[in-house]
Amino acid sequence: LRSELGNVERLSLVGQMAASITHEIRNPMAVVRGFLQLMKEKSPESLDHYYRIVMEELDRANGIINDFLSLAQNRISEKQLWQLDHIIHDLSPLLWADANLRGQTIELILDAQIPALELNAKEIKQLLLNLCRNGMEAMEDKGQLTIETRIDKQYVEMIIKDTGPGISKSKQEKLFEPFFTTKVKGTGLGLALCLSIVERHNGKISVESEEGEGTAFIVKFPLNRSVQSVS
Ligand code: ADP
Ligand code: MG
Repeated sequence: LRSELGNVERLSLVGQMAASITHEIRNPMAVVRGFLQLMKEKSPESLDHYYRIVMEELDRANGIINDFLSLAQNRISEKQLWQLDHIIHDLSPLLWADANLRGQTIELILDAQIPALELNAKEIKQLLLNLCRNGMEAMEDKGQLTIETRIDKQYVEMIIKDTGPGISKSKQEKLFEPFFTTKVKGTGLGLALCLSIVERHNGKISVESEEGEGTAFIVKFPLNRSVQSVS
């Protein structure tokens, strides 16, 4: 099979399989979720705790399926002109709530001069959420997450920095591999998905980290002149 199919065909085959498998799994999950909701209406309060756990786990499984599907399908993203800072502002209420719960702060350093870029907003949000969640999960209380955007030569840079424990050099090499995780409830799909989203935008992603100092993920999008003149 390998020798007969090109890379693109093989990928689309995997994508089709992923789509039908995830569809088959999602259906029974949706049924379970629906009936749980019905049961909750008729059940004693003592079951609230279990109800919450089951719902959380169902939603977690659903999240994994979504990540896996976007990764496996790797489709060409439909893009529109977007201001990066608009996308980030749009996202921040979600992040702020999360940070508050953890006793962490978020700082935004956004360059308002950055021209509109050809982006798939949904994917960029997914990218940011994954990078920010990782940073937050890595930090203790009082940690600070910084989201910075700036122009560096022919690139727009988006930097997501945390004050967490950092990542050892040997782990840095494996970060973007699917299923690499050091978390008990991790999937290891987050950064693999980030990489594929960045590649779909002809960009680059890299990590800079010192143990004990924190971690910065740097995303670069090419700034092309034709786009620049539009804004
Ligand atoms: P998951 O979050 O499910 O573990 P990811 O692909 O998002 O999967 O991340 C893979 C691993 O990379 C994490 O388990 C963690 O060990 C490491 N990692 C990612 N981001 C950070 C960060 N900001 N600080 C420290 N470690 C990180
Ligand atoms: Mg993650």
